[in-house]
Amino acid sequence: MRALAVVMMLCWSAVAHSAPSSDQIAAYRALGQQDLRLAVISHRLAAANAPFCERRERNPGWVLHDEIQYPDLETARAAFGFRQPISISAVVPGGAADQLGIKAGDGLVAFDDEMLGADTEVRSKQSAERVENIQRELKQKLATGEPIKLTLDTVHGKRPFNLSPPEVCTSHFWVDARSNLDAGADGDGVRITEGLMTFVGTDDAELAAVVAHELSHNLLGHRKRLKSARRRTKEVLATEIEADRLSVWLMANAGYDPKAALRFTERHGRKTGLGIFSDGTHLRWKNRLKVMQAEIDLMAATPKQGGLLPPPLLAGGELATQ
Ligand SMILES: [Zn+2]
Repeated sequence: MRALAVVMMLCWSAVAHSAPSSDQIAAYRALGQQDLRLAVISHRLAAANAPFCERRERNPGWVLHDEIQYPDLETARAAFGFRQPISISAVVPGGAADQLGIKAGDGLVAFDDEMLGADTEVRSKQSAERVENIQRELKQKLATGEPIKLTLDTVHGKRPFNLSPPEVCTSHFWVDARSNLDAGADGDGVRITEGLMTFVGTDDAELAAVVAHELSHNLLGHRKRLKSARRRTKEVLATEIEADRLSVWLMANAGYDPKAALRFTERHGRKTGLGIFSDGTHLRWKNRLKVMQAEIDLMAATPKQGGLLPPPLLAGGELATQ
């Protein structure tokens, strides 16, 4: 998915046999920066709210990439300096990988004595399949609860690491290189377009508002619920209201100002004239502000448990009181 989107944006860079230009390298790096920004904000939301999530997974707090997922191999190497074909593109500050001293640029050599070099010579075709397979395998190993023995190619040579990350709410997050203002949740993953990230600007709390809304859809199982809905329009509206309600609790628990959701919704609403992502099944933005403000007021009157505010919509969480 990501690789395809990258092609759409960067196809001009796939000029055969020419040295990558500094503009091309800068464009790849800018994409890498957006990956990191989304990873940091998402990880903060998914980690802080873990006690309230039914589905959890152990997450290292990193972003992996493969040199062949990019349209132009030479530009990718010049931009990111791959030490191994599959390397760590970004490390979330404070996450498990960061705490072990793992750095962006470190290359994956082996995990649990399984070498990762077997098919690295197949480089002719652009594909994200290889890195997706490795991510799936790592996820399965982490699900056993045991530590993973990693060998990484670092600036100091090949080094072993014992990776045993904590649990966060299950979800993965990715930047979609399209330029329209869009975001989506498919039950497992959260997708944010580059266009929307640009519209958000530099305010991390506003980006957290967008991510928290989409993450809420996943945490509340909305995709599944809508599949079996008989009156779909009414049900979509109900799920949108729930996502708005839950989003501000997730933000507050992760240390983001929930009022940023109000700022973003108003700004986006004024630009589009509709509610965010509106297709007639969503509240108008002014009504969305009322829904979110009511939750912010409720939060102010809710006692914290272990430093966190238990979201009423995630009453299944082990810290929930009701
Ligand atoms: Zn939504």
